[in-house]
Amino acid sequence: MTQENDNFVTEPRQETGLDELLECLVAVASIHHHDATREALIAGLPLEDGKLTPGVLGRAAARADLTARIIRSPLSQLNPALFPAIVLLEAGRACVLLNLDIKNGQAEVIFPELGEASSIVSLAGLQDAYSGQAAYVRPKFRFDARGPEVKKQRSRHWFWGVIRENRKLYRDVLIGSAVINLFAVAMPLFVMNVYDRVVPNAATETLWVLAVGIFIVLCFDLALRLMRNAFVDLAASRADVKLTSSIMSRVLGMRMEAKPASTGSFTATLQSFESVRAFIGSATIVALVDLPFVVLFAAIIALIGVPLVIPIVIGAVFVFLYALAAQSKLHELSETTWRIGAQRNATLVEAVGNLETVKALRSESRLQGMWERASAFLSRTSAQLRLVSSSVTSVALWTQHTVAVAIIIVGVYMIIEGDLTQGGLIAAYLLSSRAMAPISQAAGLMAQYHQSSTALQSLNDVMDKPTERIEGKAYINRPVVHGDVKFDSVSLSYPEAERSALNDVSFRLKPGEKVALIGRIGSGKSTLSKLLLALYQPTGGAIFLDDVDIRQFDPMQLRRHIGYVPQDIALFFGTLRENIVAGAGSEGVDDEALLEAVRLSGLESLVKSHPHGLDLPVGEGGSMLSGGQRQSVAIARALVNNPSVLLLDEPTSAMDHASEEVLKKNLTRFSQEKTMVIVTHRTSLLSLVDRIIVMDAGKVVADGPREQVVEALRKGQVGRAS
Ligand code: ADP
Ligand code: MG
Repeated sequence: MTQENDNFVTEPRQETGLDELLECLVAVASIHHHDATREALIAGLPLEDGKLTPGVLGRAAARADLTARIIRSPLSQLNPALFPAIVLLEAGRACVLLNLDIKNGQAEVIFPELGEASSIVSLAGLQDAYSGQAAYVRPKFRFDARGPEVKKQRSRHWFWGVIRENRKLYRDVLIGSAVINLFAVAMPLFVMNVYDRVVPNAATETLWVLAVGIFIVLCFDLALRLMRNAFVDLAASRADVKLTSSIMSRVLGMRMEAKPASTGSFTATLQSFESVRAFIGSATIVALVDLPFVVLFAAIIALIGVPLVIPIVIGAVFVFLYALAAQSKLHELSETTWRIGAQRNATLVEAVGNLETVKALRSESRLQGMWERASAFLSRTSAQLRLVSSSVTSVALWTQHTVAVAIIIVGVYMIIEGDLTQGGLIAAYLLSSRAMAPISQAAGLMAQYHQSSTALQSLNDVMDKPTERIEGKAYINRPVVHGDVKFDSVSLSYPEAERSALNDVSFRLKPGEKVALIGRIGSGKSTLSKLLLALYQPTGGAIFLDDVDIRQFDPMQLRRHIGYVPQDIALFFGTLRENIVAGAGSEGVDDEALLEAVRLSGLESLVKSHPHGLDLPVGEGGSMLSGGQRQSVAIARALVNNPSVLLLDEPTSAMDHASEEVLKKNLTRFSQEKTMVIVTHRTSLLSLVDRIIVMDAGKVVADGPREQVVEALRKGQVGRAS
């Protein structure tokens, strides 16, 4: 199916709102038989205006086991061997380039808005719209279970892998350092020659020649040092961007089971990346590079006079042993400091987050006490830590000076014996400080290293946590579902909970069925909703949506089909509009749907009466709204996508009677074709449903038509789960 379409590229086109880059990626993926859903490709990526950008194309491509490489090249010089390529056009447009026929001035392309058909366009037309950038998208080889696993190949370390990407930069740093160290020999040689040759002979001409030479060397040295620092910085900042974004995406993609219990301590872990960054970005790291040159300097000193090396060797060994002795203490102290710091942060976050409750319950003194005890302990241990680590650097400095004195003593005896010139002594003295400097620096680095390594370790733990989306897993693509929900012997035990929250729960909801879920507190009603959203994985049994195990859905796509109003509502800092649209995901939402959702949820009067309308700020966590208003916002954002399944967890618990009646009327109409589950304690909401499921202690104890169950409940015929 190829259509001739000559002027297509240059014709002004209407804004379609289509994410063309994403569509191109989907097209290329399907050409390579690496089918992927749009949701899976962009889930959790930072989009701009809800659209994929070239900057994150590579990350999206990796989701479909593809690699994407953006290049800048004239159209005619693109490599046909690597086609299909994505060609980035002006104004955020893109198309897939299948073939280039330069001789006839034609190109075969797929325009995303025309579907999968390819068209032939004139090369000149394409050239006009071309932005100068294209992307080669190539498949990665997909191993299956038969390919034997090799440990090393399995996965790249999140941290060292990124550092290794910059190895070219680090190689340059290494070369620069080598040259700088070679230059460092020049100064002592200069001084030695001045003392031994120039001064005795009053040879000022030689002096000038030597001075010019050393000046040139010094200039090169300056240039190299500036470059070296710039390279270390560049490598660190490149790595920084990648690392922080991979940490964030890991945090957002984390499975709920794996989420650490304390938010404050968890954020402290994440913030500790700062210390890792400071470590890799600091110029001190080049001190390690200088370390091998200690041998060079020692060798040159040996050339001047062998006995002069002895103090250096003794000094180096001494510093090394001292630093080693301090290691275990440093390690222990930095771990303690780190733990107590995280715990203190947890207290802080909990206190600030619940300030109203803290005041209302007069818990100030308890929290103040916790804070002060932690602070006192923290200041004690961190003072110890500083003491030990600064003692390492001080001892190293002391050794450096002592070595210098020793060299002078040895040197004087050698001069008396006639084995050394005065210039030689001075040169040896200067070289000795050059030789000892990297040793003291490395010792200092070892002290600093512990804080970063503790941080790196705890970040490693975070990065090892299981994620919702399994890499390389092919999720099925179901853009439309009917809302057939089935629980099949589902059980769940929360991590670290002794009792199971759900126990062998089975039921089936037909598409369009309306069900109320009732039961005492803690009977597992909310848990059931969270399972259907795949926020948690059942520990036994399976859940099906339209007869497909929900584990086969991409979590993003699954949640798009389910409109969920949680029991505890959290809004985000921002406006009302942003909060409602937040539920719309990447595909965006049109104003029509937005207004409809506002009307249905009963927010209309609030929006109309407020001068800011939909742009009214809600405050952090929605603190500027009342409980009932927050609930309305949550309902609006559940409805805005027009989902097939509605999951409402006590949606009216904070509403007055009149608002509830309005909502009921709206829901009756809105939910006509949809499967709806309402968790409720309000009998008034029961009129919305045809069927009632009663839960107790994680089990279904009654399930049937509304009238029957209500009757049975009234007569006390519904038992309790033992
Ligand atoms: P409800 O029927 O009141 O909505 P839930 O489904 O919220 O009850 O809770 C069911 C049980 O699971 C309760 O006993 C509760 O203690 C436990 N539970 C709920 N959430 C968690 C969690 N995140 N971690 C551990 N246990 C939980
Ligand atoms: Mg609940």
